[in-house]
Amino acid sequence: MSVKLVTYAVSDIGRVRSSNQDGGYTGYQLHFVADGMGGHAGGDIASAMAAQQIAQTDNLYATPEDAGAVLLAAILEANEKLAATVREHPTFAGMGTTFSGLMFTGDKAVVAHIGDSRIYRLRDDEVQQVTKDHTFVQKLVDTGRITPAEALIHPRRNVLMRVLGDTPERPQVDSWVEDALPGDRWMLCSDGLCGYVDDTVIARNLRTKAPAEDVAQDLLGEALEAGAPDNVTIVMVDVLNAGARPDFEPTPIYVGSAAKDVVIAERKGKSVLQLFDPRALSSFFRGSEETTDFVPESAEYLEKVMADTYRRIRFRKLRQVLTILAISAVAMAGLWFGYNYTQTKFYVGESNGHVTIYKGIRERLGPIGFSSVYSETDVLVADLSEYHRGLLERTIYATDLADAYRIIETLTTGDGNG
Ligand code: CA
Repeated sequence: MSVKLVTYAVSDIGRVRSSNQDGGYTGYQLHFVADGMGGHAGGDIASAMAAQQIAQTDNLYATPEDAGAVLLAAILEANEKLAATVREHPTFAGMGTTFSGLMFTGDKAVVAHIGDSRIYRLRDDEVQQVTKDHTFVQKLVDTGRITPAEALIHPRRNVLMRVLGDTPERPQVDSWVEDALPGDRWMLCSDGLCGYVDDTVIARNLRTKAPAEDVAQDLLGEALEAGAPDNVTIVMVDVLNAGARPDFEPTPIYVGSAAKDVVIAERKGKSVLQLFDPRALSSFFRGSEETTDFVPESAEYLEKVMADTYRRIRFRKLRQVLTILAISAVAMAGLWFGYNYTQTKFYVGESNGHVTIYKGIRERLGPIGFSSVYSETDVLVADLSEYHRGLLERTIYATDLADAYRIIETLTTGDGNG
């Protein structure tokens, strides 16, 4: 008996990182994520190299044992290739990658796993994490030294115990065979998802009957909502009855770093490895002209979905900036109008013992004043009646400049109860 698969893969740089060091692949029988790590540039090279090496084994094998043997051999070969790369390019010392993948054969799936990327499975409405993290904190949990809840916030939760790449030991890859039952939904992810989005939220999203693609996009949305401090990669595999007729053509799709080529470039007279995006160049040559090229429809569609995602993120950022600008503009305008309004006012007061016309208002906002001497008259305050001196002390407001002069005239003619 065999099954049919409907798959989807997405990888996002997140909100904080400057490069995407995650790689992902979904093809015919093989589906995986690889989360790279290492110095400033090595992580993306490591995950891309491992992904491209291991993806070459994507094939239909006679038995799960055959599939597992080929897959494990490819993983070890990728490990050796990474070690050789570091020997040749010592600047990449310490680079490595996780690998968590599934190879389907008939109604079985071979699991291969090293590192802290994860594989979850939804079966009969139950979501289960089928892989165990090869992390320092998981070891502490296993030996009863801390609880799983404490592991989530442990300061060393990112420390990996096993990984492919530049490590002294031969890598220990967990591998076993699982049943692939129609109705199963598998989700593979890097820790950019499961490290920041709660397991209950992941489970709730996997349980929806929504298509794999929608679920992956929703999960990515959850990670972005959580701040996405790390790269996020999600690969979904829905298992269907062999007789089902899904509107889906399996096509090998690489995402994240794995979608780029590892090339040797010259920099300051030295040959260096770097990632190169062939799609960037092809779109440059394509220009604005619409041509029918050899890019498979599903890959184009994936690009469109990814472009939409980026657009949404950019729009969200833009909206935040515009909101801040709008609030600042309103506040500035308010201050400006307020200040101009005060400068249409006059009042009569005292300055250096003389009756004086002030422009503005007498009130102050902390250290900020809104008035200045407009005209200091010859009239001495001392010559005024006691009543008028009292008025002057409390400030006599004028409706305009002419009114201010009228007030002074009234003061000097001695009108009042002086
Ligand atoms: Ca990561």
